[in-house]
Amino acid sequence: MRVGWIGLGDMGYPMAGHVAREWETVVWNRTTTVAERHASEYGSRAVGLREVCNVDVVVTCLPSSSEVEELAGRIEVDLPAGVTWVDCTSGDPAATQRLAARFGARVGLVDAPVSGMVDGAQAGTLTVMAGGPEEMFERVRPVLDTFATTVIHVGPTGTGHLVKALNNAAFAAHLWVAREIVGALERAGADVDSALAAINASSGRSLVTERFLRTSVYTDAPVPGFRVGMLTKDVRIGAATAGSRLLRETADLFGAVVEAVDWDADARETWAVLGEMTGGGDAS
Ligand code: NDP
Repeated sequence: MRVGWIGLGDMGYPMAGHVAREWETVVWNRTTTVAERHASEYGSRAVGLREVCNVDVVVTCLPSSSEVEELAGRIEVDLPAGVTWVDCTSGDPAATQRLAARFGARVGLVDAPVSGMVDGAQAGTLTVMAGGPEEMFERVRPVLDTFATTVIHVGPTGTGHLVKALNNAAFAAHLWVAREIVGALERAGADVDSALAAINASSGRSLVTERFLRTSVYTDAPVPGFRVGMLTKDVRIGAATAGSRLLRETADLFGAVVEAVDWDADARETWAVLGEMTGGGDAS
């Protein structure tokens, strides 16, 4: 199988590295030097946009569906009939369905966003939630298996992006809840570590209380990957698609966090601002 990879950011770079170890891989990145570095590190080949389409499977890993749609417009005419486009971007289900309709029967489309953060991408232990026709999914699965240990087909076109958006929306809601719980514990003078240990042995636990606070908030080590703007993009998609009041309020809160800090704010900055906005107290 020949693979053409588009988008070598924090996630795409290591993911395409795993693919290149198994399959003949050509790569394209907006900043060309990154593609050249990838070629020398993983044995992929840096090519132009037209050549990256001349493969069996094209993969995109871009910030959002806007960039995917924009890029599709630029390269659509170069895509050979029978190619399958796999979109690993955390995208918007409606945009994905629009793209599939535009491609028609000539080009296949599988939405295959991932979870597991940058360290999961580097280790090749991501989770993929894929949407699209079953036989198309099975055809591209060997590519997904190179960077993921859990690969799940969740339904028709767009449902992969929906599951990813809802997952991130749920994560953001858990973060909000955890911030308010920790604030209440601090104000009551409880030992926060001990209190969280009790919650983590009980039914109120979440990934945030069990792991995220320790690995990404209450740590001095650099934590790559978390950007509140990227998370908020997915929370908004999840809230709008699900029509959920709770998720809409979560999207509004995280939108306010992005305004107050910065799109690139990390987990520690986000936690601190959430504290100020929700009366959750001081993170330090
Ligand atoms: P990055 O911002 O690190 O990388 C974005 C990539 O897209 C870069 O290769 C960038 O090129 C390219 N790009 C940006 N704009 C354009 C454009 N207009 N045209 C062409 N290429 C463009 O993002 P991540 O790798 O972190 O994220 C990628 C996707 O994965 C997102 O949808 C994100 O939500 C999702 N995701 C991210 C996780 C994380 O922890 N970071 C975890 C799970 C999913 P250039 O090098 O030129 O800037």
